[in-house]
Amino acid sequence: MEIDKLMSMLKVKKHLKVGIMGGTFNPIHYGHLVTAEESLKQFKLDKVIFVPTGTPPHKTSGVLAEAEDRYLMTVIATASNADFLVSRIEIDNMETSYTIDTLKRFQEIFKEKVTLYFITGADAILEILTWKNPVEITNLYKFIAATRPGYDISKIEDLKKKLYSHPADAKDHIFLMEIPALAISSTDIRERIRTKKPIKYLMPEGAVNYILKHGLYS
Ligand code: ATP
Ligand code: MG
Repeated sequence: MEIDKLMSMLKVKKHLKVGIMGGTFNPIHYGHLVTAEESLKQFKLDKVIFVPTGTPPHKTSGVLAEAEDRYLMTVIATASNADFLVSRIEIDNMETSYTIDTLKRFQEIFKEKVTLYFITGADAILEILTWKNPVEITNLYKFIAATRPGYDISKIEDLKKKLYSHPADAKDHIFLMEIPALAISSTDIRERIRTKKPIKYLMPEGAVNYILKHGLYS
């Protein structure tokens, strides 16, 4: 498993900073990859682990591709970057995984030798309050919220006030990171495939070819 690479790195380096990039990756696109790369550089992370979500047992097929397909597209899209790893931790889990459970499992594997940074889009982090145990999760782990230049951060400031009784605590846990504007979304890519518009240059070529080969989303 790719995580083994991290374990052997830990023998050389006593402590690592690892980004966790969760998503459905349905399909993965350059917005995800730019966000991961920017996190790696801005926060001096050692690795970023992409974690595709599992498929809920009662999902309506067609819109959400099979977990295995989403996993393989993620592997293909990240293959050329030695600092990007992909984990099967959620797709191999039969039950729906909550972010906090996944972060806890990673922390158990790495023990205290790794500091985990959960990477999300700014809009996704605003949904944190609707997640399981938001206060616990935002105190245990660090969060990188990607925003586009010019993004109104007042909502994030409000979120910090709700989560932390001492505003200073938020400073060490929730980080904002500007990324170049990328109006790419998986929803739009799926819609483009359905309506036979090009998806070339919105996502890595290998993943585009995987979609075409397997007739996904059409
Ligand atoms: P969908 O349109 O199906 O919701 P998506 O493009 O938002 O898909 P997800 O798999 O839901 O992709 O997102 C995974 C993570 O990547 C989330 O934290 C999301 O906020 C972030 N993200 C998605 N698109 C972009 C983008 N263009 N730029 C930066 N971050 C993004
Ligand atoms: Mg989304």
